[in-house]
Amino acid sequence: MAAALIMPWSSEYEDYLRDESRAVGSADYISFPLTEEDVVDALKYTAGSGTAITTQGARTGIVGGAVPNGGLVLNLSRMKRIGEIVKDERTG
Ligand SMILES: Cc1cc2nc3c(=O)[nH]c(=O)nc-3n(C[C@H](O)[C@H](O)[C@H](O)COP(=O)(O)OP(=O)(O)OC[C@H]3O[C@@H](n4cnc5c(N)ncnc54)[C@H](O)[C@@H]3O)c2cc1C
Repeated sequence: MAAALIMPWSSEYEDYLRDESRAVGSADYISFPLTEEDVVDALKYTAGSGTAITTQGARTGIVGGAVPNGGLVLNLSRMKRIGEIVKDERTG
C-alpha cells in the first residue's frame, strides 16, 4: 500500500523542492499521506534503506528545514482532518 503512496519524483512536484528560505533542493520520491497510518506505512517502506526523509508542512519555514537533500519528501499538507478533541482531566 505504501508503495502506491510513494511517487517517484517528477517535474510536477517542483514546488516541493523549496520553502520560504528560497533554497532549492532535490528529491527522489514524494508522498502525501492522509492519515497517521499512511505516515507509518511510508516510514516502514523506507526503513533500513538509508533513504533520507524530509518532513514538510506548509513550507513557510524560513531556514530551509523543509528543503529536501535527496530521498523522500513526506509532505503532510493533506492531513487536514481535525479529530475528536479530548480534555485531559489531569491538566484541567
Ligand atoms: C512571511 C512569514 C512570516 C512568518 N512569521 C512568523 C512569526 O511571526 N512567528 C514564527 O514563529 N514564525 C513565523 N514564520 C515562520 C513559519 O511560519 C514557521 O516556521 C512555520 O511554523 C512553518 O510551518 P510549516 O508547516 O510551513 O513547516 P515547514 O516550513 O514545512 O517546516 C518547518 C520545519 O518543521 C519540520 N516539520 C514540518 N512539519 C512537521 C511535522 N508534522 N513534524 C515534524 N517536523 C515537521 C520541517 O521538516 C522543517 O524542519 C513566518 C514565515 C513567513 C514566510
